[in-house]
Amino acid sequence: MNPWWERPLRGVTLEFPASDVGSIDVRGIVDEAHRGGVNTLCVFCIGYYPGGTAFYQSRLAPHYPGLGKRDLVAETLEAAERNGQRVVAYVGTIWGGREMYLAHPDWAQRHADGTVTSWDAGYNSVAMCPNSPYREYLASVVEEIRESYPLGGFYFDEASFQSWCSCSYCREKFFAEFHQELPLVEEWSDPVFQRFIAWRYQQITDWRRSLNLLVKREDRCAFFQGAYPFSNLVSKPFNVSGFEYEYWYPDRFAVDWYVPLAHAAYLPDSAEIGDVVHFEPYRHMVNDPIWVYGLALRYGQSIGRGKQMLVLNMMAQTPFDQYGLPEGEIRLSIAEILANSGSPLFARYYPDRVDQEAWEQVYTCFREAREMETYLSERESVKYAALLFSQSSVDRFDHSGEKPSHLGCLKGFAKGLLQEQILFDVITEAELDRLWQYRVLVVPNASCLSGEAKRAIREYVSSGGGVVASYEAGMYDERGWRSEGDDLGGMLGVAYRGERCEFGGFDVYMRVCEGHPLGMRLPAGKLVPTGGIQVEVVPGSAKVVATLLGGAAVHYGPLGEESVQPSVLVNEAEGGGRVVYFAMPIGNRYLEFGVGAHREMIAMAVRWAAKGEAGVRVLGAPGTLALTAYEQVGGGRLVAHLVNSVRDETVSPIEEIAESRGVELVVEGRGQPRRVYSPKSKQELEWKVEAGELVIGVPPIWDSEVILVEYSSVPV
Ligand SMILES: [Zn+2]
Repeated sequence: MNPWWERPLRGVTLEFPASDVGSIDVRGIVDEAHRGGVNTLCVFCIGYYPGGTAFYQSRLAPHYPGLGKRDLVAETLEAAERNGQRVVAYVGTIWGGREMYLAHPDWAQRHADGTVTSWDAGYNSVAMCPNSPYREYLASVVEEIRESYPLGGFYFDEASFQSWCSCSYCREKFFAEFHQELPLVEEWSDPVFQRFIAWRYQQITDWRRSLNLLVKREDRCAFFQGAYPFSNLVSKPFNVSGFEYEYWYPDRFAVDWYVPLAHAAYLPDSAEIGDVVHFEPYRHMVNDPIWVYGLALRYGQSIGRGKQMLVLNMMAQTPFDQYGLPEGEIRLSIAEILANSGSPLFARYYPDRVDQEAWEQVYTCFREAREMETYLSERESVKYAALLFSQSSVDRFDHSGEKPSHLGCLKGFAKGLLQEQILFDVITEAELDRLWQYRVLVVPNASCLSGEAKRAIREYVSSGGGVVASYEAGMYDERGWRSEGDDLGGMLGVAYRGERCEFGGFDVYMRVCEGHPLGMRLPAGKLVPTGGIQVEVVPGSAKVVATLLGGAAVHYGPLGEESVQPSVLVNEAEGGGRVVYFAMPIGNRYLEFGVGAHREMIAMAVRWAAKGEAGVRVLGAPGTLALTAYEQVGGGRLVAHLVNSVRDETVSPIEEIAESRGVELVVEGRGQPRRVYSPKSKQELEWKVEAGELVIGVPPIWDSEVILVEYSSVPV
């Protein structure tokens, strides 16, 4: 039998800090969660404020103020056992209190300027460094919890650097390994600084591995906080009614880095070490919309290789969290998580004074998810397009401020694909050996790729696979160095001129050429903005699809001269593979401006390179509707999700959702189904088979719909 954590989870974290721990009704909350469909509870053992305090009668850690004789962990376990719920220990891993800090100031994590990483000026919660003796202290506390309670698992929150960490232990350790001083300034092109970045990841991976070893057992899972993978911390405070509100994270980290880099959490390692992949999506704090949740989860499916994904769905509307979230927002976020094979987790902050209306809505959605749980696990995405995420490109160039970012380009491509309902997975370089499963690979300005990765991509194309690449895709090695011939130029059918065209403004257009193969939606002569920057290339075997016009000298000024400089090219490899190259960073431009012609070009390029459409697609759907589709292992069943989540809100919660009617789901080449059913709206659906295609009438969709197609035998 599979371990308990592999089944669909519906979780709640009981966040005891800030509640009245003397009077809190633990059993009442646990029972209420049980009625609400919650099968997993994450219970605070060690909290974050005051740092490192215990919610049980610890002999090692200071007790939470006002705890008295209570043991909230034992109370939770007792109540949960009656209900058949599983309990996971929440361990805040890095926070020490004032007393610990004053006794061991050297244990504290330090910013680059040497200041201590603390929640407040009173040092009531200070980030402790895992390279200091604090590591042994925490291990002893974890052992105490392990020995005291029959827990189903351990969740280690924030086992990470919460700052640069330039403490004396880190400085000594770095020097001992490299005979170089630990860097104290950002120099992205400096090999020592790059070594420091890689070393930070390694420190946290090693620590997480040791924590896992402490608690792991066959029937007990261990997992770690998963930093939100496709966003950067926003260092600017935001202004509320004339008051400057600083988000605590940027303030604490004192960097505006890519979130996993700020935590020094290399997520593929954590996904390998832990039993569960965990994510913590944000919206307001990182200026990203809700559909990025799905993108993160697709990445989780790749790095987790089928492991459970637990998603803390709580931080969307910081600083108010759950309070007052409308039904639309709650429904959409949960549907988005389920549609991307995740399990939702909510955190009950202030558990005894919580916004009950929003919680009732969460429980309603959980009960609905429970009824569908048979269809939510043991499944694998239907393969069509793969979107390549390259962490080496992010770590090398995205923070330098010199180039369009890889992350921006990836998100722009993703948004276009979502709006066109084109099926895609997010993969990393480690998955390039499984490219044969896909019909097309998108390389969205993933500039820093290893020789091995580039070889895999070239081989894929020479054996018939399709590639869509943009801007500096594959132009550098994984460390960011350029060398002659080490690029994708031959495969793209171009030679690089070693320069990039840059214009002063955005009034720069390309003109579509006659006779290109991408499709009718891109007529010859059409002008499409390029946004003023592109790589200069000379076509070799590639055919030019669009050429650049010079930029206007001023905004509203006359457009520049015709040039022969290509902006878009196509190439057909000897082995039959098709390649489209956008010399401009089209993903970044689409994400930034939302020009429809860019979305259409992305979609046409992907379909042409793939030599056709995906075997599962929709007709008549608005661009807000995202499609995912899965084969259920061994079940002879196809599961498709449609979620109305492709929307741009980053600040306000989503309240209004337009109902989508007249949508059809098309499934190709699988013959007659035995049953076509919606477990969400609980009805049999109309269908017909025409020319080998199954066409299903989808009921009107508000937040989301789930469609099952069952065959009498396992589909091939
Ligand atoms: Zn340190």
